[in-house]
Amino acid sequence: MAEVDNELQRHAVEAQTAQTDGFHLVIDALKLNGIENIYGLPGIPVTDLARLAQANGMRVISFRHEQNAGNAAAIAGFLTQKPGVCLTVSAPGFLNGLTALANATTNCFPMILISGSSEREIVDLQQGDYEEMDQLAIARPHAKAAFRVLHAEDIGVGVARAIRAAVSGRPGGVYLDLPAKLLAQSMEAEKGRNSLIKVVDPAPRQLPAPDSIDRAVALLKSAKRPLILLGKGAAYARADADIRALVEKTGIPYLPMSMAKGLLPDTHPQSASAARSYVLAEADVVMLVGARLNWLLSHGKGKTWGKPKQFIQIDISPTEMDSNVAIEAPVVGDIGSCVKALLEKVGNGFPKPGAEWLNAVDERKDKNLAKMAETLSKETSPMNFHSALRVLKDVVKENPGISFVNEGANTLDYARAVIDMYEPRKRLDVGTWGVMGVGMGYAVAAAVETNKPVLALCGDSAFGFSGMEVETICRYDLPICIVIFNNNGVYKGVDVNPTGGKDPAVTMFVKGARYDKMMEAFGGVGHNVTTPAELDAAVKEALRSGRPTLVNAVIDPAAGTESGRLTNLNPQSSASK
Ligand code: ADP
Repeated sequence: MAEVDNELQRHAVEAQTAQTDGFHLVIDALKLNGIENIYGLPGIPVTDLARLAQANGMRVISFRHEQNAGNAAAIAGFLTQKPGVCLTVSAPGFLNGLTALANATTNCFPMILISGSSEREIVDLQQGDYEEMDQLAIARPHAKAAFRVLHAEDIGVGVARAIRAAVSGRPGGVYLDLPAKLLAQSMEAEKGRNSLIKVVDPAPRQLPAPDSIDRAVALLKSAKRPLILLGKGAAYARADADIRALVEKTGIPYLPMSMAKGLLPDTHPQSASAARSYVLAEADVVMLVGARLNWLLSHGKGKTWGKPKQFIQIDISPTEMDSNVAIEAPVVGDIGSCVKALLEKVGNGFPKPGAEWLNAVDERKDKNLAKMAETLSKETSPMNFHSALRVLKDVVKENPGISFVNEGANTLDYARAVIDMYEPRKRLDVGTWGVMGVGMGYAVAAAVETNKPVLALCGDSAFGFSGMEVETICRYDLPICIVIFNNNGVYKGVDVNPTGGKDPAVTMFVKGARYDKMMEAFGGVGHNVTTPAELDAAVKEALRSGRPTLVNAVIDPAAGTESGRLTNLNPQSSASK
């Protein structure tokens, strides 16, 4: 009996004196809050953090460049409604990750950039530490919130605050600064455990005011030519069934923004995508659901918007209202709650829009769809964007559950119009900034988070920003098929150096480059294709096998337009006109 007592006493003492440290507390805090994956790049001072995270059952995906890891974390946030976590080393690694953090914040994706940093005392006196940088100050303007933790017992609070800031209200990017010294700090294990916080209700519902719902429904009812515009906020909100019910009960034509494609299938009879210009110009009342009137929507004014409009806007951020034009009926709240409240109010007897409006939209759609079908059916040699896209359009139709990542200029613009999406949150693209370089990060995270195949369609220029991650894709053996529309250059591949000198024109790449060899170099599958039939066979084989694949699709170098559809944003010198 005495022996048992002694043994119990020994355990009690050990339990009291058992130690933990900053490394373990960070990992425990993340795991406690259901965060399972880390996207990052190990190095001083976070190598052991990454190692221990893996040892403790987290999935740690190590990239070749922090920006791609950050983009992966950002899109993981969009896909899961949990903050995607990116881990970087100090100074340059942190700065590389910061681009992705800023992009996440701009796109309203929840993400936490955790970065190791140098000694505070040395940094603040600017005494020249290894990778010295005041990272917190630099991160602040690019993030929704930024925190630094100096004491191990505050790690729980730091992680909890970061999670809440990332996912509550309008989601965004959060920076969490962890100085090297903190990670090595030790404290009693039990005290450490007790200091951690499991965040309760991290993204609380925000119910709309009832009078805002009344106002919105009254305006909708008064409309002669109503339009619903769905943005990626609506896709993020995961209110898919209610959004569909609202669209169908009201009978109003709708337009999805690019990352809202598939929220309802693009083939839905009420989709007005094929009559986009017409409905934007003609509508009299537009209901925005999780979409901002930013540059992507010509700020809600000008020629694009044609006839005078009244706007209803559903958004979680009250200050989004009136940011570009007057919003007659603001509905502030989370999309799930707002749409539910609208549905209740709309009931079953909502008057459908008049036949004149619906017929006019359908007429436009039919005409444009017929024109598109004709363009797609043309056999061209070499392939152009459309003959290649015809193949991918059918692939996505046959595999609606795969994620489709898309970046580029022409490759993006044409694909967005041609490729129908059938399921929510499957189209992942350049987003609010229209930025290139997100391709491989998004593809990796989509594969990791969904456990389903990914088709990543990139222009040759766009791919260059994150191309080295083909090694990551091979290393983790991810079911990703990359298709590169290769037309030898930025926009197109036929520019010449105006001086006649030896250097190539500034928008040109190596002619006939074989990007497929990059994938082969790391043990993946490469294909070089020059016809739609070859493209079809290569992509289908990739989806069947699930092996990392890169298809170099040779496109007519003369195909493509300057800046894709953004010609208006590209100032041109009067000399080159
Ligand atoms: P798009 O680029 O597709 O037009 P934006 O990124 O411009 O979409 O707009 C998304 C909007 O959705 C943002 O204004 C954001 O505040 C809002 N939003 C994001 N999540 C929610 C949510 N759960 N409930 C309500 N609004 C949301």
